Amino acid sequence: PYDGPSREEVIAMRKQYVSPGVITYYKEPLMVVEGKMQYVWDEKGKRYLDAFAGIVTVSVGHCHPKVMEKVNEQNGKLQHTTTIYLHPAIARFAEKLASKMPDGLTRSYFTNSGSEANEIAILSAREHTGNTEVIALRNGYHGGTATAMGLTAHGTWKFKQNNAPGVHHTHAGYCYRCPYGLEYPSCDLKCARDVEEVIRYQTPGEVACFIGEPIQGVGGTVTPPKEYFQIVYEIVRRSGGICIADEVQGGFGRTGKHYWAHQNYDVVPDGITMAKGIGNGAPLGGFTTTEAISQVMTNRIHFNTFGGNPVSMTQGLATLEVIDEDGIQQNALEVGGRLMEGLLALQDKHPLIGEVRGMGLMLGVELVRDRQSREPANTEAAEVMEQMKHRGVLIGKGGLYGNTLRIKPPMCLTADDADYLAAALDEVLENLRIK
Ligand code: PMP
Repeated sequence: PYDGPSREEVIAMRKQYVSPGVITYYKEPLMVVEGKMQYVWDEKGKRYLDAFAGIVTVSVGHCHPKVMEKVNEQNGKLQHTTTIYLHPAIARFAEKLASKMPDGLTRSYFTNSGSEANEIAILSAREHTGNTEVIALRNGYHGGTATAMGLTAHGTWKFKQNNAPGVHHTHAGYCYRCPYGLEYPSCDLKCARDVEEVIRYQTPGEVACFIGEPIQGVGGTVTPPKEYFQIVYEIVRRSGGICIADEVQGGFGRTGKHYWAHQNYDVVPDGITMAKGIGNGAPLGGFTTTEAISQVMTNRIHFNTFGGNPVSMTQGLATLEVIDEDGIQQNALEVGGRLMEGLLALQDKHPLIGEVRGMGLMLGVELVRDRQSREPANTEAAEVMEQMKHRGVLIGKGGLYGNTLRIKPPMCLTADDADYLAAALDEVLENLRIK
């Protein structure tokens, strides 16, 4: 049993010593002290189904036995020297990662977070093309460092700093809230084609790159139409830019059918940024690109003290091995499909559900007060999260209005867990209606 400081003591210490910028979820913040596979426990021993996975990070399960064995062994042997000395872990992990990549993406640069991975990607694109301008997507999220905050396109995440000159935001393929009020497919993908106008009006006509999440995570599980990225990639490449897929949330088998989220759109990016699920909880990120693009990192000296450290590399390698060995991607496809069916059935019953979106175990449920006006039901989404917690299920929320429930559990989720989650959500939505 847990014998550390009480929840109240932790709250008091945080109030005094931790920056108020470190936010918590829930009216009564939850304290989590233990995790095993798809479950976590609070200090009183109450178990929760973790359907948000540390914000889409615990890919194969909390404290997965194989991952723990490998990382504990490494921790006992050597934790840190930096990449100025050779160590097998970085080489082995980079090799394994390359084996999962589209042809030609072979060279990896490792960081400690997704934000840093995106910094490296943009730096590389600018050095490689000699262009400065970057195209990113409205409603996207790419991190909290200066460039990544600039790439991010939600006012809520942007501080009043001129942090990313040269970034231009084009329309995401967010059909449920189409900026033109059009319908797919008669819209002819006007949102995707608009990138040409953005480049024509807002840049010298030449760009360094496009960066986009194939499926927007923080933005509320936005899944653009099939042709969306093909159109955008073609226009960007014609304008001298490279195309980068931010796979921080969508990668590593989560979308079920494919290992990478971008593969659902039949495109091949020139570089991929990763974090979160790549390390099952290790502070680990990376940018993998072509031989030619990777060379630009030698234009000056670039160094990251903890990037590529033996412990993170070992945890990353073990995680990728477990994804293969445990049939994680297939499970995301099957259990995710079952959960999707459950959620779609709820949509028939509960008018609050405007749309159910996603693939595999990357699912979103957008709540609206009125299906006609699509007025975002943000306070309702917060209430659903609270009540799901009371029923022992942790979920997230996202979207510009915070009205989309995000369900992205560890990918070892079972069919029973999926059914329990859907049943709990059914009850919660029923209660909300009665109120
Ligand atoms: N890209 C995406 C798609 C993300 O969801 C996030 C984190 N939510 C990031 C980048 C930034 O990652 P980190 O918090 O590790 O810097």
